[in-house]
Amino acid sequence: MSSVPPWLKNHLSPPPIKNTFQFISYSVSLQPVITRRRIMTETNTTAFKRYTVTSALPYANGPIHIGHLAGVYIPADIYVRFLRSNRRDVVFIGGSDEHGVPITIRAGKEGITPQQVVDKYHEIIKKSFEELGISFDIYSRTSAPIHHETASAFFKKLYDNNQFVEKVSEQYYDTEAQQFLADRYITGTCPRCGNERAYGDQCESCGSTLNATDLINPKSALSGNVPVMKETKHWFLPLDQYEAWLKEWILESHRDDWKTNVYGQCKSWLDSGLQPRAVTRDLDWGVKVPVEGAEGKVLYVWFDAPIGYISATREWSALTGKDWVPYWKSADTKMVHFIGKDNIVFHCIIFPAMLKAEGTYILPENVPANEFLNLEGDKISTSRNWAVWLHEYLVDFPGKQDVLRYTLAANAPETKDNDFTWKDFQTRNNSELLAIFGNFVNRTLVLTHKYFAGEVPALGEVTDRDRQAMAEITEYPARIAASIENYRFREALNEMMNLARLGNKYLTETEPWKNFASNPEKVKTNLNISLQICANLCILCEPFLPFTSARLLGMLNSSLLPWKSAGSCTVLQPGHKLNQPALLFDRIEDDVIAAQVKRLTDTKAENAAENSVLAPIKPEITYDDFTKLDLRIGTITEAEKVAKTAKLLKLTIDTGIDKRIVVSGIAEHYTPEQVIGQKVVLLANLAPRNLKGIESNGMILMAENKEGKLCFVSPVEAFGNGSEVR
Ligand SMILES: [Zn+2]
Repeated sequence: MSSVPPWLKNHLSPPPIKNTFQFISYSVSLQPVITRRRIMTETNTTAFKRYTVTSALPYANGPIHIGHLAGVYIPADIYVRFLRSNRRDVVFIGGSDEHGVPITIRAGKEGITPQQVVDKYHEIIKKSFEELGISFDIYSRTSAPIHHETASAFFKKLYDNNQFVEKVSEQYYDTEAQQFLADRYITGTCPRCGNERAYGDQCESCGSTLNATDLINPKSALSGNVPVMKETKHWFLPLDQYEAWLKEWILESHRDDWKTNVYGQCKSWLDSGLQPRAVTRDLDWGVKVPVEGAEGKVLYVWFDAPIGYISATREWSALTGKDWVPYWKSADTKMVHFIGKDNIVFHCIIFPAMLKAEGTYILPENVPANEFLNLEGDKISTSRNWAVWLHEYLVDFPGKQDVLRYTLAANAPETKDNDFTWKDFQTRNNSELLAIFGNFVNRTLVLTHKYFAGEVPALGEVTDRDRQAMAEITEYPARIAASIENYRFREALNEMMNLARLGNKYLTETEPWKNFASNPEKVKTNLNISLQICANLCILCEPFLPFTSARLLGMLNSSLLPWKSAGSCTVLQPGHKLNQPALLFDRIEDDVIAAQVKRLTDTKAENAAENSVLAPIKPEITYDDFTKLDLRIGTITEAEKVAKTAKLLKLTIDTGIDKRIVVSGIAEHYTPEQVIGQKVVLLANLAPRNLKGIESNGMILMAENKEGKLCFVSPVEAFGNGSEVR
């Protein structure tokens, strides 16, 4: 717990700083009253000599969409650019994950090889990241030889040190396709939530991680047949043996510095107990298992993918001549993994256990995972094409990279799922970037050219209002830094914009365009200060809006200065000659937005048309069969969500005869508040079922349309509870 990092010292005077939350904790005198001790350690960067920043490796089976960007790459890039601006030693790692089963599935569907699939998407992804200014030091790929070598050696070391448990187990096998089925090749009903399209490794509906054998009614995705069980040998990482250590490391040591969502998910995993996890698979696409008796087996993609970060760092090392080892093995390196919430278990539990088992690597200091970004109120879906694809955006909005970066950072799903809408995108551009930032810069530069021939005027007469503006400017770098260092990028972005707001307000209040004739000394001061704000913005907006920063630097005829130069009113010297101004942002018109919205509406219509085949009528039943059903009118009197499920509501239903509990899978369609008082039709004589430890007595009838939307079936007139339906 040491004092202020030297690179931040400049920004600490004059103390105290308003509204700086944890940043206050830099101030040594406050130490005894600090409660969030870990945050301070986290933000205290003096202890770290270098940074290894990784971002989740996207699957090379499709292009990048805005959900990926908002969740992982924009925050990671902001963080890294900020570190570079502070002259920290940082390596920013990215790359394509090219071994997932989804890739072999896509190859099968398209009739091409897995390599052809990954070659295609790796190029698209890499190029679109570059164009958006995601500033990787290396963007590698897991099909690269250096990765196969690294992952293979990693496995071999653990194998040689007896860190694996060998197990012969029975696994699903497709007799028609004559192969063992990877988890992703098996679909069936989720035992937790009843979703009928769960995969053998995960239910995307309730987020549960599953084993293929957990699925009810399993089917092979290759042939559609019911798979059989067959013996096969695999190597397991005994995660159970790391449980106590992980509890200590995460639940104790990172209680206060990891994000609540990340910590909570880890705690839930650890509390429910860890099981040994297979690190190999029967598959022919991937890193071959480098031991005898492992023919036809590859490393499980979740074993090999995170090692991809190490391989990529080695590749970077080979390209730059820098030693990669300290970035992965020195205790004075700070490692941060940027990921989405679906990857938390792999980066917080499995990969650390792998690194611990290997024994020579450092562990991540933080894993600031984000929640999900939705699109126009619906979950982003690659298969339904419900997404805004980055490569398409870059074509549709040339030169507007920063507008997307800004909108996604402003809406980053940092603490909960968030929504991207085109309307909001337009508003962010027109009402914020253009009306505040762009307008302020443009007015300042145009007036300087008009009155002072494009030269920075020296300060003239200085009033209290001017002094107040100058004092406020000094506060921004530290404030923004504190937010970024605590992974609160939305807050950081907003602070940066507050500086532009400050400039806009200052200019509006001082009205230099009215005073030049009567008081040129005052105008000199006003424009000097406004220009200093512009110069500060160049530095402070760069992590978020690198293209805007570069354009503005061009207009100021200046080059990018380090973070520590910001916060002062002497960034630009009097007499410095400026270049001609140009507009930083253009208005985005309604028709442009309407075209994007139409594209999505069309997608929705196409999806609906594709799904428009109605389920066939079921086999005939007798009248007697029908009369066995006891259907009653009831009223929902109480409702609550069933903990740890996405779909289930626990309902209390007044049947007129009794009050009973029914657990119903409608939580994604209705909130508890919405359903209280709702009249329903209840199948009242259904045998009780246990769902999530709750006995459910009956079933309420719901209609489901082609889009999977549910609605209640209930009497159209006021009918008493207990009335029979027949
Ligand atoms: Zn589920």
